[in-house]
Amino acid sequence: MSYIEPAPIKDKENPFESMMFRFSIAAEKLGLNEEIYNVLKSPDKQVIVSIPITMDDGSVKVFEGFRVIHSNIMGPSKGGIRYDKHVNIDEVKALAAWMTWKCAVVDIPFGGAKGGIKCNPMEMSSGEIERLTRAYTTAMSGVLGPDRDIPAPDMGTGQREMAWMMDQYSRYHGVTVSGVVTGKPLILGGSLGRIAATGRGVMVSALTAMEKLKINPYNSKCVIQGFGNVGSHAALLMEERGSKIIAISDISGAYVNEKGIDIEKAMQYVSNNRGILDGFAEADKIDGEEILELKTDVLVPAAMEDVITLKNADKIDAKLIVEGANGPTAAKADEIIANKGIMVVPDILANAGGVTVSYFEWVQNRLGYKWTRERVNRRSDRIMKSSFNTVYDISTKYDVSLRIAAYMVAIDKIAKAYSHRGGF
Ligand code: NAD
Repeated sequence: MSYIEPAPIKDKENPFESMMFRFSIAAEKLGLNEEIYNVLKSPDKQVIVSIPITMDDGSVKVFEGFRVIHSNIMGPSKGGIRYDKHVNIDEVKALAAWMTWKCAVVDIPFGGAKGGIKCNPMEMSSGEIERLTRAYTTAMSGVLGPDRDIPAPDMGTGQREMAWMMDQYSRYHGVTVSGVVTGKPLILGGSLGRIAATGRGVMVSALTAMEKLKINPYNSKCVIQGFGNVGSHAALLMEERGSKIIAISDISGAYVNEKGIDIEKAMQYVSNNRGILDGFAEADKIDGEEILELKTDVLVPAAMEDVITLKNADKIDAKLIVEGANGPTAAKADEIIANKGIMVVPDILANAGGVTVSYFEWVQNRLGYKWTRERVNRRSDRIMKSSFNTVYDISTKYDVSLRIAAYMVAIDKIAKAYSHRGGF
């Protein structure tokens, strides 16, 4: 028995256990030093705060806020802030560790972190969300900082919340600190290209993988689950590169048209329809979950975690899965998918275009300079492609999946950084 004992995976996977399961396999393959394994399996810091807020009706409600720093060995920690009624510490811990691996896979000098507030932003007014965001920022002021820990948007947050966080942090310190968050509005130091960056990285990963699988994009079909930031931009860019998008979906259901969906039209529809596809008439509506089982060349889960599971893995009928979302495939489903011969570009590689351009935003803030969209896109495309090739070569060399290879690339870099820095 080795020192690495992956936590048993239960029927309903805990995201942290699911992450640890893959991490342990990769660590074993690498022959990772036991001390470093033990350091990396626990986050560096976990902060939980209670945030009392006066609601619009005059009552005071107390919210729970989290920030988990998994590692800052490679540089300041980086990771989004999630506003969601189900957010919990295990989810935030897993997402923080994923950020450490993701930044290392694409070789940017950041560690990993994640934060969240347990709340339902859909049921809150803009004023309540602003007070909550500012109070969270103040409560976390000892944790955050442009050289320490840098938040970004995630589910339930966007440019608006980042602007409030940047402003609150700056007021607290008496000086404008634009590099304390990324994903800001352009006028406050946001980067051109950031909004589409994750979807763009998904497209570059998909096309690079299709080249390996000898799938011609112009003869290919693509199915995309989730039509938010990641899914809609991935769909638009895949369509621009010649792929026929035969199905898209969101919380309202799935929409299929074998002749191909006009993605610009769908995006336009959503922006005029409360952000959802409900009633989209250019395609036939089917049950949301069925979208994952459609026959296609490329399947992009870009909605949420844990959607490809023991229940449906056997029914997946794609040649390639490109994980736009974080953690869409349960660890238990990995083997079934591999046995079906489906290539999976894992989340920590496929959706790393977002953090890459966040890094560019931080660099531009530090330089006090703005790059053109072309420069941002060119640099991020180059990073995504070369990261894919590095991971692909490791997967061939060690005869492992792209997922395990991506973890191996990340863990190896981090272990080297630890061995140079020492200090235990
Ligand atoms: P978003 O909120 O903009 O969009 C989410 C989409 O998923 C929406 O269309 C929503 O309707 C849909 N959805 C929700 N529940 C669904 C369900 N049960 N079935 C089908 N669709 C459903 O979020 P996003 O920023 O696009 O993030 C999506 C995923 O990508 C998340 O896992 C997120 O952590 C990950 N991710 C996002 C970024 C980024 O830059 N935005 C970067 C890396 C990873």
